[in-house]
Amino acid sequence: MARASKTAASGPSLFGPIDGPPGGPPGAPPKPKRRTKKPPAPRKPRDPKRAKARPPGPPEPPTITSGTFADVALNRPVDCEFTYRVPEAMVPHAAMGMRVAVPFGMLREVGVVTGFRTETEIPAAKLKSLMRLLDAEPLIGPELIELARWIAERYACSFGEALHAMLPGALKRERERVRTTLVWAHPHVGDAELAQIAEKHPKQHRLLRTLLEVGAPMELRDLTRRLNLSFIPARTLAKRGWVTIERVPAAPDPLLVSKSDRPRPKSLLPEQQAAVDALSGQLERGEHATFLLEGITGSGKTEVYLAAIERALALGRGAIVLVPEIALTPQTVGWFRARFEQVAVLHSHMSDSQRLDMWLRVKNGEARVVVGARSAVFAPVPDLGVVVLDEEHEPSFKQNNVPRYQTREVAIERARIAKAVCVLGSATPSLESWHRAKHGEFRHLKLTRRISGRPRPPVEIVDLRTQPVHVLQSQKQAGRGMKLFSARLMYLLTKCLERKEQAILFQNRRGFAPVLWCGGCKETVRCKNCDVTLTWHQRIQRLVCHSCCEEKPKPANCPTCTAPMLRYLGAGSERIEHELRAFLPAARVRRMDSDTMRRREDYERTLSAFGNREIDVLVGTQMIAKGLDFPHVTLVGIIDADTALHLPDFRAAERTFQLIAQVAGRAGRGEAEGRILVQTLTPDHPAIRHAAQHDFEGFAKGEDVLRAELGYPPHGRLVRVLFEDRDEEKVLEGSKKCAEFLEKEFAALNIQILGPAPAPTAMLRGRHRHHLLLKSLPAPDDLQRAMPVLRKLSTEFTRPHVLIDVDPAAML
Ligand code: ADP
Ligand code: ZN
Repeated sequence: MARASKTAASGPSLFGPIDGPPGGPPGAPPKPKRRTKKPPAPRKPRDPKRAKARPPGPPEPPTITSGTFADVALNRPVDCEFTYRVPEAMVPHAAMGMRVAVPFGMLREVGVVTGFRTETEIPAAKLKSLMRLLDAEPLIGPELIELARWIAERYACSFGEALHAMLPGALKRERERVRTTLVWAHPHVGDAELAQIAEKHPKQHRLLRTLLEVGAPMELRDLTRRLNLSFIPARTLAKRGWVTIERVPAAPDPLLVSKSDRPRPKSLLPEQQAAVDALSGQLERGEHATFLLEGITGSGKTEVYLAAIERALALGRGAIVLVPEIALTPQTVGWFRARFEQVAVLHSHMSDSQRLDMWLRVKNGEARVVVGARSAVFAPVPDLGVVVLDEEHEPSFKQNNVPRYQTREVAIERARIAKAVCVLGSATPSLESWHRAKHGEFRHLKLTRRISGRPRPPVEIVDLRTQPVHVLQSQKQAGRGMKLFSARLMYLLTKCLERKEQAILFQNRRGFAPVLWCGGCKETVRCKNCDVTLTWHQRIQRLVCHSCCEEKPKPANCPTCTAPMLRYLGAGSERIEHELRAFLPAARVRRMDSDTMRRREDYERTLSAFGNREIDVLVGTQMIAKGLDFPHVTLVGIIDADTALHLPDFRAAERTFQLIAQVAGRAGRGEAEGRILVQTLTPDHPAIRHAAQHDFEGFAKGEDVLRAELGYPPHGRLVRVLFEDRDEEKVLEGSKKCAEFLEKEFAALNIQILGPAPAPTAMLRGRHRHHLLLKSLPAPDDLQRAMPVLRKLSTEFTRPHVLIDVDPAAML
């Protein structure tokens, strides 16, 4: 199908008679069942989705209009660009890649010019004109336009959506916002006010409590996004006079103030040197290639990136370094700032104006090195020479809204278009990358030795089924044993502290107890909007849904059977901290998770306290798994290695292996020898066994065999089609119809359709969810051939809402 069938941008003819539904394959799309009630008024199709689904009218004979016309991509889920007349006065100035303001139905929208034409089939009367050129020169260059095309095809979104994902927020609107909105609590407001709204206004309570905890102004948009709230609770609190909302000029990004020391090593280790030579050679040839840099933790991968970037800069080319959002710390950024003159930082927590400022500095060549989270892959670096993706296996590199791209693939494609070198770095590569390196598609570079020359610390597995378990303080009276700390862990921890060394305890789950369970009816307390149990948070005395962020006080009795028999099951980081304080009253214990680390400053303060040895034991989630480099840490305990293992996801084993390897990398980085303790109920699981032996290759080989048997990546490709609606009937019916339609549509293709079935999280934020899984071989890639049909699906259906996830990173 044509990737950009042009249609008129005028009102009534949007999708109808002029060229029919934008270029789909023959065969009727599934007839969405909505709209039967009220067909859209033919002259005012405000919502293109509605307009589009109108049955195509009788074909009109084409009339040709001549003049100067621009094709404009809009940020809408429609698979075409729109044609507008370019007014005479604009003709000399308009260029491809510029933003323009255009009329769209009743609205005025910002679009990007993607091409020009001198003739169109759209009748003159129906053509509309560009309203304004928003840029004096093109904002999006030809390379990024090509990349956007590729993204639209690969990830089944519209070209316009892909293009707009590349723009910083401020440029998606006609007027730039140079101010940010801050919100803070009044100094006189406190517990009394909180108590007033605790019962009746849980949303306001959540917001005010967070503001009081933070005790400093926060960016309103960022805060409400994190708490999953609209602006309404904040406005109501402002009306009460308890908080202030104010628009202020944005402050510079704190990440750009930091400079961490990273002395240039006197020499590189032979393996590092070999890797740098390979990358430099490729850079000098000026040809694209992708390298997988597989280097164990502490093997000096960052130094290799730095050397490659140095080489690129010397050749007059720029660089993009992508790291997982969570690893984008002042320390990481500082390493690059210490080495290079002009470093730009791009990430999602910046204010619009900060991001715009950075973006423009990159675009005009002032900053040649960009360090950022996934969306920085679109940074408009001129003469791009190298793209680095650190921790390439990280699931967070998958974007979870449209366009749902996998940053790794986009990075490779971006590098290919720019004839640049792409470096994928990891201690535990994704199975996909490992497989491609094995088969010669990527060049495989390995760093097998730690800089320190020490072997990696030994990993000891504690079988919680058989090992004695320490009795918890909170359970002494209750007489029930929870397998939280093994006696072995407690022994080693005590010894570690006696030696005045430091420890890290990892539990990949926040809150106090993930489950509140009734001993009477055996039911758990669940969220009313989501198919998940509520987590008890002790400090704030609330049950919290980790999916939708809703909170409520703990019921005195079981909400199902009213028995007074509710019990906390399991443990999150808060409980670990709590128990540890009871067990080791003299130890300085600190917790690091998203509940305690609300702001970047908290995070930095805690890390620096840990670095200064003002903390003995750091308890935490994901947040402490990565990048931390503290020489006095000699014990790392993984409280429950099985949490990720039982997720209904074919990558569960891979994630578990990666997590253990990563957390284990935090120990023994200094002079003293380190030790890792892994507590598990499944000590024989290959992920755990191989992780304990630091044997990535062994794990990957075994896992690869299983994946091949099941046809999962890297031996197959997947597309997940998710149906969501508040009305379960709609989901059931829509998903069934869609499955039947796809069966027919894909009859000639080698695509397996699994489902429909309820998604593992069958309800989320009040919407029921069912999904289909499409599976095919990677070659010939029939899924790619099916993409136009899928893209159509996501734009044609409005109820139930259809979500297409190509190469999904998670199956929940
Ligand atoms: P990785 O990212 O592979 O875990 P890093 O790049 O963080 O490892 O390097 C680990 C430590 O080794 C850092 O403190 C770094 O400064 C240091 N380092 C790296 N290469 C060398 C070298 N060739 N000589 C001395 N120190 C080095
Ligand atoms: Zn919920």
